[in-house]
Amino acid sequence: MYIERVALKGFKSFGEQVDIELSEKYTVIAGPNGSGKSNILDAIRWALGEQSPSRLRISKQSDLLFQGSPSRPPAREARVSFVINDKGKLKAFKRVLDESGSSFFVDGKKVKLYEMEEEKRLLGLEGIDFAFIGQGEVLEAIKQKPAERRENLEVLFGISQYRRKREEALLK
Ligand code: ATP
Ligand code: MG
Repeated sequence: MYIERVALKGFKSFGEQVDIELSEKYTVIAGPNGSGKSNILDAIRWALGEQSPSRLRISKQSDLLFQGSPSRPPAREARVSFVINDKGKLKAFKRVLDESGSSFFVDGKKVKLYEMEEEKRLLGLEGIDFAFIGQGEVLEAIKQKPAERRENLEVLFGISQYRRKREEALLK
């Protein structure tokens, strides 16, 4: 399973629409400081439901809107979409922020955040947050205690749900 492409418009430094194609194996995004590399990762995190401003490196939600440049007016809407290719089966995710707030879409259909979480669970993306190791978080990941690291890896590999079920069963 991999992210096939990402499209951004009006999101952070991306004023006009930008389409990025990702490779099935790995993709390297290179560019000068401040050119928007980390913003692409922020966009994917945000579109997957990230709510924490600090993890998105902003102080308020409206900071996600393109602020404008000498040649381009500020954006009134931010949209990020991406397509996940799961063994040839495609699933399209989109998140839009406008005056009415933010909305999620899966395959073009508007969904609630909890439905979005369910879609993530179905794809085995429940622990995806741990799969993003941001700039400055490398040390944090290295310094994790073994038990903490194991816990995160169990979520990532989808094992935690079985541990939870086992614990529930043992209580009965
Ligand atoms: P580095 O190599 O230093 O990590 P980077 O390529 O990861 O850089 P980003 O952090 O993705 O860079 O982008 C930072 C840039 O995005 C800054 O120049 C900042 O002004 C710009 N930026 C952030 N939010 C917005 C916004 N809402 N509107 C316009 N530009 C923005
Ligand atoms: Mg960066």
